[in-house]
Amino acid sequence: MYDLSAVRADFPVLSRQVNGKPLVYLDNAATSQKPRQVIEALVDYYERYNSNVHRGVHTLSVEATDRYEEAREKVARFINAPSAEHLVWVRNTTEAINLVAKTWAAERVGPGDRIVVTEMEHHSNLVPWQQLAKERGAELAIAALGADHKLDEADFERLLTPNTRLAAFTHMSNVLGTITPAKRLAESARRVGAAVLIDAAQSVPHLPIDVQDLDADFVAFSGHKMLAPTGIGCLYARGEALEQMQPFLHGGEMVLEVTYEDASWNYLPMRFEAGTPNIADAIGMGAAVDYLAALGMENVRRHEVELTRYALRRFEELEEAVVYGPADLDYRGGVVSFHMEGLHPHDLGQVLDTEGVAIRTGHHCAMPLVRSRLNVPATARASFYLYNTEEEVDALIEALNKALRYFGRAPRS
Ligand code: PMP
Repeated sequence: MYDLSAVRADFPVLSRQVNGKPLVYLDNAATSQKPRQVIEALVDYYERYNSNVHRGVHTLSVEATDRYEEAREKVARFINAPSAEHLVWVRNTTEAINLVAKTWAAERVGPGDRIVVTEMEHHSNLVPWQQLAKERGAELAIAALGADHKLDEADFERLLTPNTRLAAFTHMSNVLGTITPAKRLAESARRVGAAVLIDAAQSVPHLPIDVQDLDADFVAFSGHKMLAPTGIGCLYARGEALEQMQPFLHGGEMVLEVTYEDASWNYLPMRFEAGTPNIADAIGMGAAVDYLAALGMENVRRHEVELTRYALRRFEELEEAVVYGPADLDYRGGVVSFHMEGLHPHDLGQVLDTEGVAIRTGHHCAMPLVRSRLNVPATARASFYLYNTEEEVDALIEALNKALRYFGRAPRS
């Protein structure tokens, strides 16, 4: 394991006060905090070698290009991609999924074809496929969750018909914390000849990931949920899949030769990176994966399992709380979504904020799951990361008890 207080000392924001109380940051599924090492990498770029990449022979441009491409290599190693060529820089998971939907899938999904997703997709892995299916006359099939809030694998298998072109599923739900058996699901999808896209927005930050072992065609994730800056993310694509994809944006950097009449496309992955990229934040993402790799993702995962186990135990003390998500911690990440009988999650979130406790309330960009499957308008969600502590879980429970007293749902002590 790692030294938790040393880790916390790396995150400047964790020492601030909110409403006169120490910040208890439990909104990590929305975005993570950033360690000093990442912030310093950004400052270093802007202070010492700010320059455009791939275009200049002067020292600053060469340095910027080296650091930018080095960051791509670091991220590739972090997820065990065969090489950095398989990684396209994008803004976030949403852009990565849309890139696949608007290029690869738009050319391959036709009338009568099927795309399979699950009941617990984030809007960014649902709406692009829903819209593509509508445009192309294809069908969107939704694999169900079991009563235990794990994916019903039998249902997923049943939906994989020979006309299925793509299975696009989350590796970890941002609402329930449910971890899907992504490797098994990918194997099943490939058996019927379907391609596989994994929404890894919640898994790459929290679990050890090996994209070659997962054997997916596409894996999408965001930097900002894994200690990196906002505005940078990655699409990993298997070699053949990337070769087959047509560029989405045309312009500078993505071309090799241009005449007035025509253009030829640059090598991979630059073909998909038109215009000046997000250089600083890519370099920041390199620093973020350095940080995570030094801690060890097995250790990060172990820490979060223990914290989640502790949190679930403490939630049992709250009679009013309905907690969602699998009880089996092998299938659950550090996410605890809950509903307090008689209390609107939004009111709860506001009272918790007065105690310095930051949680998220709402539909978490998974409206169909929350409204149609969990049958509530919204949930409250606490989500953990590598710097959270048991004392912070205690602070959450204490704040929830205060909220219950405040709203008259529990005796005032
Ligand atoms: N998928 C999942 C499972 C997520 O949790 C999120 C972010 N909440 C996304 C996709 C979208 O990520 P981004 O907003 O960074 O594009």
